[in-house]
Amino acid sequence: MPASRPPVCSVCGDAGWLRLDVPFGHPRHGQLERCACKGVEDAQRLQRLCGLTASERSLRLDMIEAGGRPGTLQMMRACIEFREAPSGILTLWGGVGNAKTMALQATVNELVERGVEAVYITAFDLFSHIKEAFNARKEVVDESAYGRLSRFERVRVLAVDEFDKLRVTEWALEQITDLVDKRYRLGLDGQAGTMLAMNSNPADQPDWIASRLLDGRNVVVHNADTDLRSALKG
Ligand SMILES: [Zn+2]
Repeated sequence: MPASRPPVCSVCGDAGWLRLDVPFGHPRHGQLERCACKGVEDAQRLQRLCGLTASERSLRLDMIEAGGRPGTLQMMRACIEFREAPSGILTLWGGVGNAKTMALQATVNELVERGVEAVYITAFDLFSHIKEAFNARKEVVDESAYGRLSRFERVRVLAVDEFDKLRVTEWALEQITDLVDKRYRLGLDGQAGTMLAMNSNPADQPDWIASRLLDGRNVVVHNADTDLRSALKG
């Protein structure tokens, strides 16, 4: 008999999946749940889809220049707090060139480094996954795209950049609202953290989204800095 190595993960025996421990009759009875040991691996797979460059993956929060930039400093503090307790929705907004993208990417990198499944994606790319998964009647047309999308919905930390850049059709808006709602509810349970970055005031988002971002249980930071020097420390 070949010698078998003990499994690395004592919870799932390296299968990566667990049968949900819920009573018969529960809506999720019989379903499988991803084991936490595969979380980082899953996040890395998702992250490859998002295509961060090597230099973006090397970003860390302490590389961002906040000296003389009160809005950036406030943004960095919020990112550090989020990194320490990544739950709920953190919204960063303000003009172009004030390091919001770097802040998102650096926070995601630091979370991944700590073993937390975290993914950065632009709203445009996220939406293209949505479009691959569903047709206009909300029927699933591609199982693997749908699987990918569900992982974006449930990933422990999701950072969505350029949230207000989508040219929004009613259908797209419905999908995005759905996703924000799922992340919002998981966030209230402490099961998910979401970062959003946008140029415009989140109060100008469609009512349903704005009311969630601004409900007082989530954090909103306005970075009004207009400094045009490099956002990276020299
Ligand atoms: Zn496991």
